[in-house]
Amino acid sequence: MGKAYVCTCKPDDWRDLKNHKKACPHREQPVEEQLLRWDKMFDGSYKIEEASVMVKTDLNHPNPAIRDFVALRIDDTPHPRTGTKYRVYPLMNLAVAVDDHLLDLTHVLRGKDHLNNTYRQEYLFGYMGWKVPEYIHYGRVSIEDAQLSTSKMAKGIKEGLYTGWDDPQLGTLGAMRRRGIRPEAIRRYWTEVGIKEVDIQFSWKTLFTYNRELVDDGADRYFFVNDPIPLTMGGLDADITARAPLHPDHPERGTRDLKVVKGSNVFLAREDMNGDPKRLRLKDLCNVDVKGDKLVYAGNDLAVLKEGVRIVHWAPADAVEAEVLMTDGTTMKGVAEPSLTKSLGKVVQLERFAFVRVEQVAPAVKCVFTHR
Ligand SMILES: [Zn+2]
Repeated sequence: MGKAYVCTCKPDDWRDLKNHKKACPHREQPVEEQLLRWDKMFDGSYKIEEASVMVKTDLNHPNPAIRDFVALRIDDTPHPRTGTKYRVYPLMNLAVAVDDHLLDLTHVLRGKDHLNNTYRQEYLFGYMGWKVPEYIHYGRVSIEDAQLSTSKMAKGIKEGLYTGWDDPQLGTLGAMRRRGIRPEAIRRYWTEVGIKEVDIQFSWKTLFTYNRELVDDGADRYFFVNDPIPLTMGGLDADITARAPLHPDHPERGTRDLKVVKGSNVFLAREDMNGDPKRLRLKDLCNVDVKGDKLVYAGNDLAVLKEGVRIVHWAPADAVEAEVLMTDGTTMKGVAEPSLTKSLGKVVQLERFAFVRVEQVAPAVKCVFTHR
């Protein structure tokens, strides 16, 4: 077709010429001459880098990178499958264009760093009369706070730093599934971000917002007490029971009934005891006065909240051991109300703490942190 030429210039000379919009001496030689030189690339007459096949584009193209490009070159390195049978090989732009055509690709999605390659490949499609696929270019996405290097992940798994490919410290889909991040949240995220040519930063916050909208309605509420302190519950005439809703917006789902037996312990989180509070409200149960390592029943009047009394979550004496694996690899250890053991595999909300996915219920409850 006269759309390519075998060039035996030194690579730098060839590049200098085209940077000045000038043709090298080989570019306009007749087709017969080009074909003779082409045969010589195969028969060993030329050594590596002595001859290459260039595709003609437009020497006046404003972008020098688009002006003619190397399509085939000589390489005597034995091929892993064909050995030394061939010595002329296509470079990426020729190979990719032919592949995309033979595979009938309709849409090509690639990083915007390949924009110049797309322009080059379009010349080949044009010369051959092939249908040009739709090219879509996207910018680089950076994802912070997540290990994304597969080699580092593999090394960390081998060394025991991570529990596996779904360790919540990693940025893998497996890790997100284990944490209870729903596929719909991920799809919505990328649909709304769209394909843009600008570089973007991934936002965990936005992904978590979408996921929270998906899981909140189905997530039953439970009390988990981190770093628990047992305190004796005094001042009771009889046993009392907290009837806490499984979900505040869905009374029809019923309650978790937490019984506090007269004279038994309840567990409070150590951080809730900071500042030596004199009086607290145990959520969904009653008010208590704090006296050393004892709690004393102080009625059930919600008016105390106006006096600045804080509401805290708690767990009864028959609480189960529970822990939450965090995304930094640490584990929060504590106790939880017994009915949490009914939520195996589900995403629940541990009140005043976070959404978690329950991945084990016996012998102890183990959860994985989802998000706040
Ligand atoms: Zn040349």
